[in-house]
Amino acid sequence: MVLSVIVPCYNEQDNVMPFYTQSVEVFDKLRCNYELIFINDGSSDDTLKNLSAICESDTAHTIKVINFSRNFGKEAAIFAGLRECTGDYALLIDADLQQRPEIGCQMYKTLIENTEYDCVTAYQKERKEGAVLTFFKNAFYKIINKIADTHFFAGASDFRILNRKMIDAVLSVTEYHRFSKGIFSWVGFNTFFMPYVVEERRHGKSSWSFIKLFKYAIEGIVGFTTAPLKIAMALGLISAILSAIYSVIVIIQKLAFGINVPGYATIVVLLLFLGGMQLFALGILGEYISKIYIQVKDRPVYIIKEVITNDK
Ligand code: UDP
Ligand code: MG
Repeated sequence: MVLSVIVPCYNEQDNVMPFYTQSVEVFDKLRCNYELIFINDGSSDDTLKNLSAICESDTAHTIKVINFSRNFGKEAAIFAGLRECTGDYALLIDADLQQRPEIGCQMYKTLIENTEYDCVTAYQKERKEGAVLTFFKNAFYKIINKIADTHFFAGASDFRILNRKMIDAVLSVTEYHRFSKGIFSWVGFNTFFMPYVVEERRHGKSSWSFIKLFKYAIEGIVGFTTAPLKIAMALGLISAILSAIYSVIVIIQKLAFGINVPGYATIVVLLLFLGGMQLFALGILGEYISKIYIQVKDRPVYIIKEVITNDK
C-alpha cells in the first residue's frame, strides 16, 4: 500500500458519506494504491452503521473501519490509525470536511516530490474563530514555546502526512497521554508547513468546548515540560528570601526602635497569600503525579471492539 488515509470519526453520521465520496473522487486521481481507515471513536449516532455500509458497498478500494469499544478521544484514534495502517505514507484528516481532501492530495504530492521532507503539515494562516479563542490559542503557543524544549508551530493542526520513517517513530512513543502536536514535533524529522484555509464544518458541531481546549492546553504543557514545577520552586524560594528579609526588618524595628509592629492585617494577608501559593504549587505537583499514576497503570490507549474491512 502506498497511501493510508486515516480518518477519526466521532458522531459524524452525516459527514462520513460526503467525506467518502469526495475523498475517493480526489484520491483516485493520484493513481496510487491507497486505503481508507476510519476509526469510529465510540460514536453514539449512526456513524458506525454508515461506515459499515460504505465498506460493504465499495469493492474498488481498500476500506477498514476500526470500531472502538467506547470514546477514547481523537489522539487515541490517530494512534490506532497509525498502528493499523500499512501505507508508505499516512495522511491524517478529519471526517467533517473542514480539511478538504484536495488539500490532502496536494500534501501527498508535495511530500513525494520533496524527498528531503518527512512530513507535510497544514496550518491555518488566519484563524476563523472568535477573537477570544484566537487570543487564548496564540497565548498558548507563546507560553509553551517559551517553557518547553519541543517547538510548537502556531496554528499547525493534526492535518498532516507522514512518511513511513516518521510513522514508525511516532509509534515508538507509547505514552498514555498523547498530545499529538507535541509528539510529531518531539520525534524530529523535517516538516514542511503548508498554509491552508479551514472550511466550515459540514454537519454537526465541534466536540471542543472552551473548557476542553483549556484542559488540552494543560495536557500539552504538563506532557512536554516540567517548567511549572521549577516555577513553583522559584516562587517558593523567592517568598522564603523575602520573608527572611522582612523578619530581620521586624526584629530591628522592635529591638532598636521599640516600634510595636501592627500585625493583624499583615498576618492575615500573608497567611492567605502564602496558603494560596502553597495550594497552587501542590496543584501543579498533583497534575504531574496524576499523570505518573495513570501512566504506571499501563492501560492501553484504546480498545478495539471489532475491525470491519473489505480487504480480502
Ligand atoms: N474526533 C474523534 N474523537 C473525539 C472527538 C473528535 O475521533 O473524541 C474526531 C472528529 O470526528 C473529527 C476530528 O476528530 O473527525 C476533529 O474533531 P472536531 O471537528 O470536533 O474538532 P475541531 O475541528 O473543532 O478541532
Ligand atoms: Mg472539525
